[in-house]
Order: sequence, then C-alpha cells, then structure tokens
Amino acid sequence: MALLARFLRGLGVEEIGPSVLMITGSVFPSSDKRVLNISDTILSRVLARLGKEPSDPALTILDVYRAFCRLASLAGDGVVEKREKVLEELFRKATAMEREWLVRIILGEMRHGVGEGTMLLAIGEAGRVEPEAMERAYMLCGDLGRLAMVAMMEGREGLKSMALTPFTPVRPMLAEMSYDVGEVLKEHGGRSAFEYKFDGARVQIHMTHGRVAVFSSHLKDVTEGLPDVVEIVRKGIKADEAVLDGEVVAVGREGRPLPFQELMRRFNRLHHIDRLRKEVPVKLYLFDILYLNGRPLIDIPYTERRATLEEICEEEVLAANLVTSRREEVESLLARSLSLGHEGLMAKALDSLYTPGVRGKRWFKIKPAETLDVVIVAAEWGHGRREGWLSNYHLAVRDKVTGGYLVVGKTFKGLTDEGFRDMTERLIAFKIREEGFTVYVRPAVVVEVAYNEIQWSPRYPSGLALRFARIRRIRDDKGPEEVDTIQRLRTLYKDQFKRKAMREVL
Ligand code: AMP
Repeated sequence: MALLARFLRGLGVEEIGPSVLMITGSVFPSSDKRVLNISDTILSRVLARLGKEPSDPALTILDVYRAFCRLASLAGDGVVEKREKVLEELFRKATAMEREWLVRIILGEMRHGVGEGTMLLAIGEAGRVEPEAMERAYMLCGDLGRLAMVAMMEGREGLKSMALTPFTPVRPMLAEMSYDVGEVLKEHGGRSAFEYKFDGARVQIHMTHGRVAVFSSHLKDVTEGLPDVVEIVRKGIKADEAVLDGEVVAVGREGRPLPFQELMRRFNRLHHIDRLRKEVPVKLYLFDILYLNGRPLIDIPYTERRATLEEICEEEVLAANLVTSRREEVESLLARSLSLGHEGLMAKALDSLYTPGVRGKRWFKIKPAETLDVVIVAAEWGHGRREGWLSNYHLAVRDKVTGGYLVVGKTFKGLTDEGFRDMTERLIAFKIREEGFTVYVRPAVVVEVAYNEIQWSPRYPSGLALRFARIRRIRDDKGPEEVDTIQRLRTLYKDQFKRKAMREVL
C-alpha cells in the first residue's frame, strides 16, 4: 500500500484518475456509459500480429488512456477494422511487460491483489486523509478516479465538501436478513416501517428538469434499456431535481411479478428494446428519496425522507408502507406480500439515515425461508480461503421414476470452516472418481438447504435450479433415498406461478 501511495504521489495531475482506475481493472468509472468494445477475437488477432518490442519504448499513462478513450468512441462503418488499428498502434508502442498489463486492463482481470479497498487506503495515504473520511467520500462518489483527484489535490477539506449530486450515483443502502419479526421490532425500538420486498432489481433514478438517468445497484447507467421507466418517472414525479431509490419489477399476467431472470433480460440487453419492452413489461416502485431540488436528504431520518417522497410521488409509483408496533399486523402484511408474489418485507428504522453502501440492522429484509432435503453428488476443491477443502457442493434430488439423482444447484454457502473440514472428510469417504477440480461421490450425505426461488434452468439436465441455495444443516437422520424428488420440485416450481406470472414459453 505504501508503494502504491508513493506511486500516486509521483503522478501528474491528469494521470491520477486514469491510473487509479486502470490499476483496479477498469478504464472508466462504472457510472460512465463508455465501454472499450474489444472482443477476444480482435484482441487475439492483434496480439498475433505484433512483432518485437519497440527499440525506444516511450508509452505514457496518458497515451494508454487516450487510446482507450478513442476505442470507446469508435462507431459506424468499418468499426472493427478501426478498433483493430487503434489497438495495434497502442500495442506496438508497448514493451512485452506493458503488453501483458494492457491485456489485463482490457479484460478487467488484474490479479495483483490490489482491490478497491487497498486502493482507497493508498489514496488516503497519498492525500493524507484518514480512512474514515475516505470511506464516507467513497459512499458518496463511487468513482475512485475522481476521489483520488479530490483527495490528492484538495485533501480532507475537498472530500468534506463532496456532496451527493444528481447524475453521480451512490451505492444503495442495504439490509440485513431476519426471519423473525419480533427481533426486528426489538432492534428498531418497538416500532418500524414495513414495506413489501419486491422481487426485482434495484434502481437509482436521477432527474433534473426532465432529464432522467437510471442506474443499477452496481452504479451502471442502464437508462437506454429502460425507456418505460424513464417515462414513468417523467409522469409520476413532481420535482425539478431529484434522486430516487426504488425497485423495478417485471410484470406478467394480471400485474403479478415475473421471475427475476426475466427482468434481467431488460437490464442486460441493448438490442430489440422495443420488442423486449412488450415481452417483459416493468413496473416501478419508489421507496426512498436522497436528494430534492438542490438539497441532499441522506442525513435526515427515514420518516422525513418518506414524507418528502410522498409529496412529490404519484401513488402508483410509490411503494406502500405500514408503520406499526404490532407483530400480528406485520405477520399479516408478510402473508399478503407473499400471496401477491413479492419476496417478503423490508423493515426500516424510523430514525434511520440513508447510509450508502452500508448493510446493517437499520434496514432488515424479512423472508420466510423455504427448504429442501438434497444429497451431495459431487464437490469441487476450493481455492483461496477454502484451499484444501471440498467446497462447492453439487446438490441433487431423486428421480422417483428412474431412481437416479439429478443436480439442481451448487453451493458453498452455509458452512463454517469447521463444517468444511468435516464435510471434506465425509465426502472423500464416498469418492467415486475425480475430474479436474471436481470429485464425484456416491450419493450419501444429505443436507437441508434453504433457497429463495426455483428457477427454470437450461444448464442442468433436470431443467430446474435452486436460486441462492445455502446449507442449513446436515441430515444425518436421512438416507439418500429419502431426499426430495424432482417430481416434488416440479410441483413447487409450478406453485410459484400461482403467485408469480409464468414466462409465456413454458
Ligand atoms: P437482498 O438483495 O436480498 O440483499 O435484498 C435487498 C434488496 O431488496 C435491495 O437491494 C432491493 O433491490 C430489494 N428491495 C425490494 N423491495 C425493497 C424495499 N421496499 N426497500 C428496499 N429494498 C427493496
């Protein structure tokens, strides 16, 4: 880290931003729409054509950054050739080692162990700013490059004056999980605000005088793929300038939510937007406001933000909330939420400030966990912290008809270090064969897994996959012939659609 700080201090002003981003494996901040557009094919073609290193290497950080900016701006006829040309010019000027690092930057895989956390500390050291001030600033501005510039040029005072501004997205506030309404009420001082937990994708919406941008939870600008959300905001929000927090949900028949994977088609694709817009219509629910007409609101309590939101927001786009201290009321709201096809509830402490990027007990998500008994049929050798242990377990259910076992998911979640060790020993005893990192075992160890949803899956021959499976406990009391069956899973899958709309093709 000290090395990194020293390096940053030695940079010219213009080099700071690009350097920080490129070291952490990106060229543009995540809120920037630009992408390099370099496919593996172009990259390998260019690499194959390169000759010897230049005799007088003189490539600078800014040369690289400018070449990347050019690549991102190329468009129109013959764009592939143009890209190849710019890329080749850049690589020709680079030494062998520089070429290797350029490839890593392009692929976004640096593998040098310097992540955002280390970079943040190094910037702090270079600008003589303490880590807490760096973290707060990072909450408000997810762009490490800009942060580095401000920290190093203006120090702590500069960072302090950084405030939430429209079109600079901040990381969303997160929630802790709870399965118990009593615990939630106690933690929130006996009374809390409850909202439906919608099963969609988080969006942060920035608007000023009719201009609207939609950012994903990873602060990616996803506006282009969601023109209907933009329309909803233009119609449903009465404010000149606002930053809003909410959830986009895909809706199917009778306005019921469609499964999450359907919605992702809207977020990931930039082609055929008009067609997809019809196939996967969306609805927007807003539940928070972070900024209104020149004034950041993140440091005022939930109740005040909520009142502000209600003033400017049409009812149709507002997520309903219930403030209560009564457990029975919460439980019936939870049941109602599930019957409508939502995921559960969110509980928000009435006095909670909006803390970007923080996952804590100020917000709770409340979900009833669903569980299944499955058997482990294979496992993968772990790496990093789980090195030496079998860790990614392939989970299978039984086929009543054939008597065989079908994989419906994988998980490495739910076990402690002790648990991994124990599980490795158990599984090794049942080993049949090993292929690469995967050890196949006789179906013997039965585990109870919790999961959030059963998804249709083209990847597994069973056709179904458990979303977010995690091991709850080992069922030593059960044998492999007693695990849940694919037939039951199919029924459960169909039952989900009593609440949710089903994808048309199924
Ligand atoms: P999880 O992704 O399970 O950690 O749950 C948190 C996510 O729930 C948030 O990031 C939102 O995308 C989503 N969510 C759904 N409804 C709400 C709500 N009413 N308030 C806050 N987050 C919500």
